[in-house]
Amino acid sequence: MSTSQPKVGFVSLGCPKALVDSERILTQLKVEGYDVVGTYDDADVVVVNTCGFIEAAVTESLDAIGEAISENGKVIVTGCLGKRADLIREAHPGVLSISGPQDYASVLTAVHEALPPRHDPFTSLVPGTGIKLTPKHYAYLKISEGCNHRCSFCIIPSMRGDLVSRPVDDVLREAERLVRGGVRELLVISQDTSAYGVDLRYAEREWRGRAWRTRMTELCEGLSELGVWTRLHYVYPYPHVDEVIPLMTAGRLLPYLDIPFQHASPRVLRLMKRPGNVERVLDRVKAWRAACPELTIRSTFIVGFPGETEAEFEELLDFLDEAQLDRVGAFAYSPIDGAAANDLPGALPDEVREERLARFMEHQAAISAARLERKIGTVQKVIVDVAEDDLATARSMADAPEIDGVVHVQQVEGVKPGDIIDVVIEACDEHDLFARPLGVSADD
Ligand code: SF4
Repeated sequence: MSTSQPKVGFVSLGCPKALVDSERILTQLKVEGYDVVGTYDDADVVVVNTCGFIEAAVTESLDAIGEAISENGKVIVTGCLGKRADLIREAHPGVLSISGPQDYASVLTAVHEALPPRHDPFTSLVPGTGIKLTPKHYAYLKISEGCNHRCSFCIIPSMRGDLVSRPVDDVLREAERLVRGGVRELLVISQDTSAYGVDLRYAEREWRGRAWRTRMTELCEGLSELGVWTRLHYVYPYPHVDEVIPLMTAGRLLPYLDIPFQHASPRVLRLMKRPGNVERVLDRVKAWRAACPELTIRSTFIVGFPGETEAEFEELLDFLDEAQLDRVGAFAYSPIDGAAANDLPGALPDEVREERLARFMEHQAAISAARLERKIGTVQKVIVDVAEDDLATARSMADAPEIDGVVHVQQVEGVKPGDIIDVVIEACDEHDLFARPLGVSADD
């Protein structure tokens, strides 16, 4: 690439949704002829895409801005923390510009001002797939922005606004482009995947010569036509989630649901203002498993929520026993600036929250380990993330990138990232599986 092109450094913090924003900004910068570089020294200006979800993320974002200022000096800030411009200006008065999440236009204007684009007729010759920060063989597919719920511990709706869904044909076309560009696994993300399309009244659009509604089930059906792995994240247990289970049973959609349950006590869930009919969640989980035994369920929980009694916490542990979830993440409740839950009575002392978190994790660790152990001796399809010599790091259908475990495959020859192969699971530890390709034994 020519060294005379204007050069932009990019630091992307936060969740997969922020990563998608970063990818969009980078794609546009490439279209305009900017060169994206990997070091502060090489960059003429640095964009920092921040996260502001919890206090730890705020600190990390402020530190990243500080580092970029001291290493480079010309810094443009965007992303969730951009909603708190005062905080950023107070810590780092020298930043050139601050904008919020999905405000691509402001970021690009700030880049143009700091570093005018070089006009070059060839810069329009960019690949149609966009610039992806994730490895080439998997990609996040953001189907909507914002959220109509108002969970009392969350400030995302105040940062990102109400739900705005992308029309289904728009999403399916992006997915098609990604697959044409080599992507073998699509990760559907949003704040609330089950609510997809409700703001558009499930508008009908045309794709591949037929009508599709902007609705989760139809979207999944469309994606299943692309012949790659599709994984659903941030699904809420609404009744229509039942409709995608047959697609999983038929092998058209990965048998994987990432459902942030957050708690199991109906009273605590009401205090959290969580969506969905909480009383029927367990019945629903059991029905899904009966229809699709290979279904993997991942979830997250908050323990030590204000007012949570010991009995309610134990109700949560009982739920874990009943639900037999495969993968679980948990947090001890910590107040987030601006969240309604901060005003709830009955805040628990730190040591109670931490002690409950430790008990919760220990309880779930045994369940997750037992579920992994059941896989020993089975044949699984895995997608290769990294291949080196005769070893590969791969993931099964049960493993989402970055948040779940991996499958370490030994004695594997001639594979490359994105390949999908059959392996026999031979062992496990707390998170990961160990395997050999089908047909290869330890003596080979
Ligand atoms: S569903 Fe609740 S936790 Fe999730 S983004 Fe919306 S308000 Fe926040």
